[in-house]
Amino acid sequence: METIKLEAHAKINLSLDVLKRREDGYHEVRMVMQSLALCDDVYMEMLPGQDKIILEPYKEHMAAANQTGMTAHSLSEVPFDERNLMYKAAKLMRETFGLKDGVRLHLDKRIPTAAGLAGGSSDAAAVLRGMNELFGLHADEETLAALGVKIGADVPYCLMGGTALSEGIGEVLTELPAAPPCRVLLAKPGCGVSTKAVYEALHVNERPEEAHPDIDAVISALQDKNIRRLSARMRNILELSTIPLAPEVPKLKEAMLELGAMGTLMSGSGPTVFGLFTDNELLGKAADALRTGVYRELCDEVIETSFYRITAL
Ligand code: ATP
Repeated sequence: METIKLEAHAKINLSLDVLKRREDGYHEVRMVMQSLALCDDVYMEMLPGQDKIILEPYKEHMAAANQTGMTAHSLSEVPFDERNLMYKAAKLMRETFGLKDGVRLHLDKRIPTAAGLAGGSSDAAAVLRGMNELFGLHADEETLAALGVKIGADVPYCLMGGTALSEGIGEVLTELPAAPPCRVLLAKPGCGVSTKAVYEALHVNERPEEAHPDIDAVISALQDKNIRRLSARMRNILELSTIPLAPEVPKLKEAMLELGAMGTLMSGSGPTVFGLFTDNELLGKAADALRTGVYRELCDEVIETSFYRITAL
């Protein structure tokens, strides 16, 4: 039986603004999204004549986790049942297209969970694409995006990937010029934060104008392929509500700058902090310092990665 493998890439927000909380409780956003090379691997196999969805962690991943006695990459926080966004994506595709056959899904998780890196949304986007391919459905991008937004606001962006402006509740997407090459250091504090709780605690409608980031300045820096200017203009309004829940965030930002990052910001609703580096050696040294030095207590996961889907300089 044919098995297909898909990469589900993590994202960071190079800037994030929440414009307002609507009457219906949804928040309108304006965010600059960037894919990272860091990804989960999703394996999919059709189960002919079987009316079911099977979802399991990737076997080799489990074996490695058992051998080292660790819970590899937040695997324990991922629900392997109908709550999983991959399961929801497969179910939605089966219902929408009236599929009689089932599917087996394996997840090799590397993206930290509940971290502001859209791991779950990206896994769901991979499953939508994978179902389309595996079952020969020929659904176009628009159809997949319309199904994706039913699963989560970030899913349409995850289907698209690259560098993009995300507006509305996350479903209005505009492709931006691809970013120049850039190395990225991710540091995730031990705690996870609930995206919903962070948005609610922001009370955005009561925030003054000055609290809002200048998203256009970031877009302009991207258009000019100017990482230094981009680094100087990056802002995330959600830091205001995440920092009281995760006081490591400002400390990690400060540490990254001390360690040579050109710019640093919290991604999404956090609590992951990223630093941008153009010097690879400096990034390696900063990663070592965060893993072993005086900063060690601030984070429990440190990952070295890069922008994904970039342009030549
Ligand atoms: P975002 O940046 O879109 O807010 P996030 O990175 O903060 O997302 P996720 O890693 O997507 O958060 O996970 C949030 C919660 O969703 C987890 O705590 C977990 O219980 C649940 N979840 C459902 N499906 C998945 C999945 N495939 N991978 C990870 N978490 C999942």
